[in-house]
Amino acid sequence: MDKNTIQQALAAVPHPVSGAGLLAAGAVAKVAYCDGYASVRLNGGGLNPAQRKAVEDAARAAVIRAAGAEPLRDVHVEVTDDAPDAPLPEPKRAAPTAAKAEPAPAGGPVNARHIIAVGAGKGGVGKSSIAVNLAVGLARKGHAVGLMDGDIYGPSLPTMLGLGAIEAAVRGRTIEPFLVHNVKAMTIGALVDPDKPLVWRGPMAHGAFKQLVEQTNWGELDYLVIDLPPGTGDVALTMAQLLRLSGAVVVCTPQKVAQDDAVRAAKMFQQLGIEVLGVVENMSWFVGDDGKEYDIFGRGGAQRMAQRLGVPFLGAVPITMALRENSDRGDPTANFTDPSPAGRRLAAHLAALVNNVENQAALASVRQGRTRPTLTIS
Ligand code: ADP
Repeated sequence: MDKNTIQQALAAVPHPVSGAGLLAAGAVAKVAYCDGYASVRLNGGGLNPAQRKAVEDAARAAVIRAAGAEPLRDVHVEVTDDAPDAPLPEPKRAAPTAAKAEPAPAGGPVNARHIIAVGAGKGGVGKSSIAVNLAVGLARKGHAVGLMDGDIYGPSLPTMLGLGAIEAAVRGRTIEPFLVHNVKAMTIGALVDPDKPLVWRGPMAHGAFKQLVEQTNWGELDYLVIDLPPGTGDVALTMAQLLRLSGAVVVCTPQKVAQDDAVRAAKMFQQLGIEVLGVVENMSWFVGDDGKEYDIFGRGGAQRMAQRLGVPFLGAVPITMALRENSDRGDPTANFTDPSPAGRRLAAHLAALVNNVENQAALASVRQGRTRPTLTIS
C-alpha cells in the first residue's frame, strides 16, 4: 500500500456532482499513507451533507478495497468545505503514472513562516529537550516562536518549560498559548489531569492533535516547533495532513540500536512527503569532572547515519548535568546563559544547532517554493 495506490483508488470513485473521478474532479486535496494509517482529505465545496457523507463513505471503501489483504490500522477521510481544485483532464484510461506529491494545504491553520517537527525513533533520546532548546534558541535570536507539545501520549513540556500550575486561558473556542521563555507554548499536559494516563486511539489522537493546532491562538509566528510523539504513527500522519511543514528534525543518540529507530522515523517523514532537515545527535559524549570527554554511547554514530541517509547533520549535544537539571526545573533559558566554562560550551553547541536548523529550514522553503508539488496524469 502506498499513496499512489490510494490516489488510483480515488480516481475511480465518481464525484457526486460531475460524475468524473474524484481525482479528475479536483476533489482530492491530500493523500497520505504510513504504517497502516491512510488519510485522505477531500474538497467538498458545493456538496450537500448527504453527498458529503456518500463521497466520504465511497472514498473510505475504495481505500479499504485497494489495500486488499494488507491490514489497515485506520482510514481517516475528511471532507472539507474547500472548493475543488481546477478540474484535471480525465485520465485516458491509464492510471496516474507520476503522482509526485499531494498538494499541501495552502495557508493552513497556523500563520507561521516555518513549521518544524522534531521527531525520534524512540522515547528517551532527548527529543523534547531538543525541541524546547531549539524553540528557546530561535526566540533568543529575535524570532516569534511557537512550541507545540504534539507528544500527546507523554507531554513533557509542562515540566520542561516550568508551566507548573499555570492555568490555560480558554476564550470561547480558542486557547491562549503560554508565553514562557519568550516562546508561545501549548501542551495538552496543561489541559488534562497530569497524573492520568493519556490513552488515545488513532482517531482520538488525530482529533486531539488537530484541536491543539487549530484552536491555539498562535498569532503570527516565524517558527512553530512541534514536539512529536516518539516512533512512527498516527500523529505524524495527522500533522502531515494538516500542516505544510518546512521539514522535520530527527533526534538520535549515537548507539546503533537508536540509529535503526531513527532511520525508520526519517523514512516515515519522507514517506509522508515531509523533508528531513537533518539529524541531531543528542547525548553524544559526557564531560567528567576531570574535564575529560567520555564517548559513552559512541560519539559520531548519528552523524554517520545522517550521511547514509543523505541528510544534513545538524549538530551534537553532549550529556550535560546542567541541561537535565534545567529541564527538570523548567528553566531552558539557563542552558544559554550559564557563564561557567561548561555552560558556555553547552550554549555554543545549542547555538550551532539552532543556526543549522534555521539555515536548513530556509533552504527547504526555497526548494519547496521552486518545485511546487505537481500531479501529472497521463
Ligand atoms: P524524549 O522526548 O526523547 O523522550 P526527553 O527530552 O524527555 O526525551 O529526555 C529524557 C531525559 O533525558 C530528560 O530527563 C532530559 O532532561 C534528559 N536529557 C535529554 N538530553 C540530555 C542531555 N544532552 N544531557 C543530559 N540530560 C539529557
